[in-house]
Amino acid sequence: MTVVTRFAPSPTGMLHVGGVRTALYSWLYARRMGGKFILRVEDTDRERSTDEAVRVILDGMAWLGLTADEGPFYQTQRFDRYRAVIAQMLAAGQAYHCYCTKEELEAVRAEQMARKEKPRYPGACRHGREPRAGVQPVVRFRNPAEGAVVVEDLVHGAVTFQNTELDDLIIARSDGTPTYNFCVVVDDMDMGVTHVIRGDDHLNNTPRQMNMLIALGATPPTYAHVPMILGPDGAKLSKRHGAVSVLQYEEEGYLPDALLNYLVRLGWAHGDQEVFTREEMIAAFDIKDVNKAASAFNPEKLLWLNQQHMMRAAPAALVPHLRAHLRRIGLDSEDQPFLEGIIVAQRERAKTMKEMALNSRFFFVERVDIDPKAAAKHLAGGGRDMLAKVRERLAALPQWTAEGVHGVLNDLAAALGAGLGKVAQPLRVAVTGTAVSPPIDVTLALLGRERTLARIEAALSMPVGD
Ligand code: GLU
Repeated sequence: MTVVTRFAPSPTGMLHVGGVRTALYSWLYARRMGGKFILRVEDTDRERSTDEAVRVILDGMAWLGLTADEGPFYQTQRFDRYRAVIAQMLAAGQAYHCYCTKEELEAVRAEQMARKEKPRYPGACRHGREPRAGVQPVVRFRNPAEGAVVVEDLVHGAVTFQNTELDDLIIARSDGTPTYNFCVVVDDMDMGVTHVIRGDDHLNNTPRQMNMLIALGATPPTYAHVPMILGPDGAKLSKRHGAVSVLQYEEEGYLPDALLNYLVRLGWAHGDQEVFTREEMIAAFDIKDVNKAASAFNPEKLLWLNQQHMMRAAPAALVPHLRAHLRRIGLDSEDQPFLEGIIVAQRERAKTMKEMALNSRFFFVERVDIDPKAAAKHLAGGGRDMLAKVRERLAALPQWTAEGVHGVLNDLAAALGAGLGKVAQPLRVAVTGTAVSPPIDVTLALLGRERTLARIEAALSMPVGD
């Protein structure tokens, strides 16, 4: 059997980390099993669905690299199919028209509540009722009246629901539009979904969906309901905790692999391994190993993992990410070795790609603005004289390499009996504008002779109060 999984977000809110983790588990399981992964946009709620939310889903999935083998399918494009199935179920007696009015149902509900009973549809139309003038009927599914449904959930184990607890669900509203639980059923059946992996807030829908699938002659898929993600304070994850659009992580400079790595570990473990490549995740993941307890989102750990991925990735793989962040601050370069060099020089010092881009500004601009504090500290006093000496020796350097620069600075420090810092700091301030940068030899090698000397020149002619 080929495994078919799907991610079926409703575009009613922004795709955030909770949804991404569900998508990831579905994608990973399909990849692990050599199966198929489908993307389905559940946009039947026209009032709450937005184009912006659809865009975040599509762009977010693309940025994460969670590529679908089929789709995106849109439920709003499948209404004819849903209507046909409703007609078929009505004809087979598996569904029926219900003419109960809202007022009647509310009155029944109030009585049930007063008797402390669970509110449920009383079944007035279940056994056939004449059409009532002026009432547009809804269509209800004829749920089995007896027996039980057992959901053999891969995360929660067997969960039993008594059919007497399940209402005759409305599958079409009085305006004829199909309802959410029904569309899911038709889609999962038509799309040959074998494994439904979704949030455990849907567990209560599952027995109804299974009953409908059975009525339609389909074999229900295997279900895995994954737990919620909580905020660091244990409350349901909300905007306050960073439950923002997944694209915001892109903007903040996170790597998709780091975010996926973080999310896979929330509720799943493989020994004590923390850092996973995509390939390692695929090889090790099994939905059966997902923990059923909810887990809390930890932004510091995500940041730590991000840097781990920045440190381990091939520099070439990080170039597109660096360029994307450089462009946001109006900078760019197509010089691949230069960009890779910057990545290697900077990645120990930045936790995000955004931070790396911001720290690397001085590599791209024509002239640096020198931080006055750094100038006062390192260019005043003897700093400028030191810089002039450095300039002289650097200008005479035959081969402009990191080793060459290193040799010049070491020799000068030895000749003057000074520490390397005394020699290097004025130079660092002159070429980077600040007192903090990657190792000075690497920095100069990347900047090149001309730019380095021009910046030293500019610093030497800058007025600094001594
Ligand atoms: N559309 C549902 C949601 O966004 C998911 C339904 C499902 O996976 O069956 O919560």
